[in-house]
Formats: sequence, structure tokens, C-alpha cells
Amino acid sequence: MPWFAKGGKISKKILMRSFLFIFLLLQICLSNHSTGEDWSEFKDKHFVVYYTMSEDESWARVLLQKAEEYYDRIALEIGYSRYSNFWTWEDRVKIIIFADQKTYLQKTGQPKWSTGYSNRDSQLFKSRVIVTYHQENDFIDGLLPHEISHLILRDFIGFDRQIPLWFDEGVAQLNEANKKILADTLMKKLVKQNQFIPFEVLTTRDIRQETDSKKAIRFYLESVSVVDFLIKEYGHSAFGDLCRGLKDGKDIEDAIRGAYSGSIDSIVSLQEQWVKYMQKQ
Ligand SMILES: [Zn+2]
Repeated sequence: MPWFAKGGKISKKILMRSFLFIFLLLQICLSNHSTGEDWSEFKDKHFVVYYTMSEDESWARVLLQKAEEYYDRIALEIGYSRYSNFWTWEDRVKIIIFADQKTYLQKTGQPKWSTGYSNRDSQLFKSRVIVTYHQENDFIDGLLPHEISHLILRDFIGFDRQIPLWFDEGVAQLNEANKKILADTLMKKLVKQNQFIPFEVLTTRDIRQETDSKKAIRFYLESVSVVDFLIKEYGHSAFGDLCRGLKDGKDIEDAIRGAYSGSIDSIVSLQEQWVKYMQKQ
């Protein structure tokens, strides 16, 4: 007698429960995430892109290709490609594309102004993720490389390490379209007028509390300008050493001293070198 039969007749209650159980199991198996969407996917070496709408397919393909390009470029730029090859096979980063902003906000609980975010250990998606929705703005040239850079830097240095915000945001902006050119133009002007943020202030400030948008913009542009200067003037390999110093638990000043010994030995001397560099450009 089958286990679900009672006295030769199938118990309706047990049958219903069995169907419900199988239905829930199928839901879990078919869906990669706990959001209830019906996901399709494309995979490459380091990323998997998930999308729900068939009309998003070509956008998803472009996104995947760009993500792989950014990965290679950023890893090379910050000297990481020498040390490790991570994010492969099952360790790929998931890029989640919701159909529209409304669904994206509903499912992720992000603030209304949010257009996307990254998370190294997402509870919702059980993985490293970049989450967004299909949009026409500059996501692919802006937020995508920004979030990939944050993830790579954090994998390099360690998620629990304390690093100055300017360093984190400076690296994150390296591959945003036109950001370095914009920073270069503004910072040259501010250096000339002696109006830049002194590096001792830059290193201790948490700009996330800043309400004056002009000050926030200045902070971000100065951050990318300093990181760009270090890479252009002293190379990817020395920058990789700086990151490794931070990974080993050094504070930013010690890590700089270790990576640029003989050239830069403090935050103050970093500022002096950067100012000289900006003046001769
Ligand atoms: Zn950022």
C-alpha cells in the first residue's frame, strides 16, 4: 500500500500536503534565489548575469561582457592580477538584473534613490552580488565598474580591514568613464588656488555624513586623483604592494611608507608629491 494511502483510499489531506511539498521543492530548485523571480542566466569566467525579461537578454549580454573587461582592467591596474585569480567557477559574482526599478526596490529594500549596489556577502542572494535593474542611464560606464572595483579591492585587502574612505572610493572610480579626466581638470584648478582638501583631513574624513554636495564631489574627485597619481607615477606593482601592506594590517601611512620607500614616507609627503605632480601636468 502506498505511504499516502489510508485504508486503500488516498487521504486528501496527505495528498494535498505532498503536492504542496513537491511544489515548494520545485520552486527552490528552479529558482536560484529566494526572490520568487523566474531567472535566466549567462555565465562567463568571473560573473553570472541573471535576468527575468526576454527583452533584457541583449542588455544582459553586454553587461556580462563589460563586467569581464572591467574585471581584467581593474585587477591589472591595482596590481592584483599578479597575486591571485579569484572569482572563478562556482565563486563567480552574480549580477542580478530586475525588470524595473519598482521590482528592484520592492525585492531588495533599497532606498528610493538607489539604482544599484554591491554586497560581498548578500543574505538575499547567498553570494557576492551586484544588484540592479534594466535602465537607460550610465550604469554600464559608471556604477558597474565602480561596484566591481569595490569588490575586487575588498577581496584583495580583506573585508574587515579599516582603510580610509578616500582610498576605497578612489580605487572604485578608476574605471568610471571620464571620471579621471574630470578629476584632473578640477584638481589642477584647486591645487593652483590652494583649495584642495589637505590630506590629513582627507584621510580622517567620513564624507558619508556630508550634506554639502559640493564638498562631497570634491572629496570623491580628489580621492580618484590621488589613486590615479600613485598608479601613473609609481606603477601597478607598487600599488599592489600598498594594498598588500593594508591587507597585512598596516595603517595607510605605514603601508605607503612600505610600498614607496625612498619616495613617499608619510601622508604629508604624499600630499607634497601629488601637488608637484598636479602642478607640472
Ligand atoms: Zn563607492
